[in-house]
Amino acid sequence: MKALTLTAYNEFSFGDVSNPRPGPEDLLIEVKACGICGSDVHGMDGSTGRRIPPVIMGHEAAGVVREIGASVQGKWTVGQRVTFDSTLFCGKCRYCAEGLVNLCQDRRILGVSCQEYRQNGAFAELVLVPERSIVAVPDKVSFEEAVFVEPTAVALHGVRRAQVVPGDVALVVGTGIIGLLTIQALKAAGCSKVYAADINPKRLELARELGADETFSVKDGGVREAMLERTGGEGVDVAIDCVGIGPVVDLVITSVRKGGRVGLIGNLAPRCEFPLQAVVTRELSLFGSCSSAGEYPQALEEIAAGRIKVKPLTSAVAPLAEGSDWFHRLHGGKEDLIKVILTP
Ligand SMILES: [Zn+2]
Ligand SMILES: [Zn+2]
Repeated sequence: MKALTLTAYNEFSFGDVSNPRPGPEDLLIEVKACGICGSDVHGMDGSTGRRIPPVIMGHEAAGVVREIGASVQGKWTVGQRVTFDSTLFCGKCRYCAEGLVNLCQDRRILGVSCQEYRQNGAFAELVLVPERSIVAVPDKVSFEEAVFVEPTAVALHGVRRAQVVPGDVALVVGTGIIGLLTIQALKAAGCSKVYAADINPKRLELARELGADETFSVKDGGVREAMLERTGGEGVDVAIDCVGIGPVVDLVITSVRKGGRVGLIGNLAPRCEFPLQAVVTRELSLFGSCSSAGEYPQALEEIAAGRIKVKPLTSAVAPLAEGSDWFHRLHGGKEDLIKVILTP
């Protein structure tokens, strides 16, 4: 099969590699579309240590079933349209038993190669996926849309973790792809107002197009004051950090009302300071949210129903053969690209 292999940091080769063979519990998927994730771009240059070459990256993909492992025969049909959870989980540990597959003790991510494991991903014509991670794609959802099911599930999980209820007033800081999907997930969850803040005016414009009621430039300052002003001096019910640096953590904590909830999805900085006394004296609840745990079917439903729009987040659809160029363009960061999708 043809594959885009990271052969050394910042270097790719596109060409023939041997076809993966399905084990008894695997499905072999013919990849139709695979999105480039920010974590792939940051992995490519070695900065995260999570894409040690050689590795075939790619974990946001959709395609059709090509071959079915011996012990999972009968559950799927060849040619069926599918996507998959990028989290591969054991299905046996205490966390898996509770449905918290994102916390599995033997968790692996497709297309990741780190000290503990190497798991080839979907920047290839074929990818091997354990059957328990596969989800069927409804006819209404195209392969290019299904690529977004992973980041959409991440956003839905964050909203669920933050215990959002209909009528909540919410603030999202950070309008990268997860932020833009979180805004829509909050709207879909019935929030009465969703405010968004970022430094990039183009992204804020897109946030408004996708349903944010009002947006604010973090550069201009005054976001917290604006939140107080719009909530009778109390603060919003829930605020979600989709960046993960100290000043944003501070902003989300100080923008919620007493007893409010703070969702923490972004995690750029490994450590940061935060206003402890505000959390304690105002009885705030802070929720970390990592990846997703069972939100894939809901993500597909939201996309199929048009409650979560992903097409405006697609910057380009290009052949897999051109993958190296697109990786370097994304890495350069000169263009305001959101999601680039590669098609084998
Ligand atoms: Zn990703
Ligand atoms: Zn497990």
